[in-house]
Amino acid sequence: MAKRIPITVAHGDGIGPEIMAATLEILEAAGAPLDIETIEVGEKVYLSGNTSGIAPSAWESLRRTRVFLKAPITTPQGGGYKSLNVTTRKMLGLYANIRPCVSYHPFVRTKHPVMDLVVVRENEEDLYAGIEYQTSPDEIQAIKLISRPGSEKIVRYAFEYALKFKRKKVTCFTKDNILKMTDGLFHKIFDEIGAEYPEIEKEHWIVDIGAAKMADTPEAFDVIVMPNLYGDVLSDVAAQIAGSVGLAGSSNIGDQAAMFEAIHGSAPRRAGQNMANPSGLLHGALLMLVHIGLPEIAERIHNGWLRTMEDGIHTYDIYEQGKSKQKVGTKEFAQAVVARLGQKPQVLKAVEYSTAPQRPLPPLSKRPAPKRDLVGVDVYVEWPSKNTAELAKLVAKAGSNGLALEMMSNRGTKVWPDGAPETFCTDSYRCRFVDKNGTTPKEVVALIGRVADLGLDIALTESLRNYDGKPGFTLAQGQ
Ligand code: NAD
Repeated sequence: MAKRIPITVAHGDGIGPEIMAATLEILEAAGAPLDIETIEVGEKVYLSGNTSGIAPSAWESLRRTRVFLKAPITTPQGGGYKSLNVTTRKMLGLYANIRPCVSYHPFVRTKHPVMDLVVVRENEEDLYAGIEYQTSPDEIQAIKLISRPGSEKIVRYAFEYALKFKRKKVTCFTKDNILKMTDGLFHKIFDEIGAEYPEIEKEHWIVDIGAAKMADTPEAFDVIVMPNLYGDVLSDVAAQIAGSVGLAGSSNIGDQAAMFEAIHGSAPRRAGQNMANPSGLLHGALLMLVHIGLPEIAERIHNGWLRTMEDGIHTYDIYEQGKSKQKVGTKEFAQAVVARLGQKPQVLKAVEYSTAPQRPLPPLSKRPAPKRDLVGVDVYVEWPSKNTAELAKLVAKAGSNGLALEMMSNRGTKVWPDGAPETFCTDSYRCRFVDKNGTTPKEVVALIGRVADLGLDIALTESLRNYDGKPGFTLAQGQ
């Protein structure tokens, strides 16, 4: 008998327990050799006073099995409860979120009959690093953090995914016409790593027009790789326009562990009524089967499920009078899929999962350490009067022979010297001190001390460095 593969399962809240029972029934009937450890996460755990929604004993199970099949959970409103999804992704280092978005025309209503795309979303960085600062009573900043290793990992994952699943094209969405350094790095890495995959077509779109194109003509895309925030928003758009939120599943993959789920939530209003569609979680479970090396079983279930769709056996969310044959509940839907295991769809394309094992990923690129030159510092100060010239006169006094005030900006726009009188200013100013010949950390610290001696309130300081002679910082708008 095949060795059983341990996985951790959470039955979740709302419709979670019903769709999980249906999913597990199908997996078992298909002969998936799973050894299931059950953990409690979500509402009950939150309400017992654990603000993370997951108990330490549950982490032990996840660390042991490294494979997590999770039903949706309810995050109680208010009260400082942390999102369990974000916590799990970050703690387990699940850097890749994969969401296949497929339409099932003519069996499920959609405006996009030939849609079959996969969103590969970076899952740990970008604005989701969650680093925010209040710099003055009027202003708050969030850090958009993009790293080279983080971007290399997700872009590599997207190309390897395309190879493994015989996808033809990988598209990258960024906003690097504006975010030249952060999104610029992501785009650059896409070009660098893409060059190692000559057999795969590559393209880059600016995210705004790319998103519009995807919502209008999704058939023009195959695999789309994106930084975290764009991927979060656009994977929901892609799943929704494919048909129903009840259909799509997703995987969250890391080097050490992986989590699989439906993309939808716990739909509390439908709970306990044997109504919910278990297909989203089932699709998450199919991604899990492939991940743990059981692609044949995934294929058998997937094709039986497609046949169930074709036979018009539909839950309420996709049931359509005239088109569907039978409106069924969660349990009956699972039984219909079980009855069709081993069958193939006749109109829809049957799926074929690669049985080739995942190739080991090459190591992250090794680069010679760049030459770093400290050339100045940005000092953010609070200045409620908004009289820019007065602030410039005052703060310039903190400069030295080498490290002199070069410019001041407000909300990223240059306001001194030669600022436009029309520019609206808040109470937070960035004062840039530069020494083109280079400076030292001690000189920078001394300068910050002199700014403080002027009685100014310092909110943030950022070192200005050149890397191999190129600025590691942007100019202000208008500079
Ligand atoms: P939801 O996805 O639960 O529901 C949105 C709509 O889709 C509802 O009309 C619902 O009835 C329908 N729907 C969802 N899944 C369905 C299914 N399988 N079959 C049929 N219809 C389905 O979103 P919501 O109402 O915004 O959120 C409810 C709760 O879920 C909240 O507490 C939220 O925090 C949580 N949530 C959890 C996850 C997760 O655990 N991954 C994700 C999103 C939301």
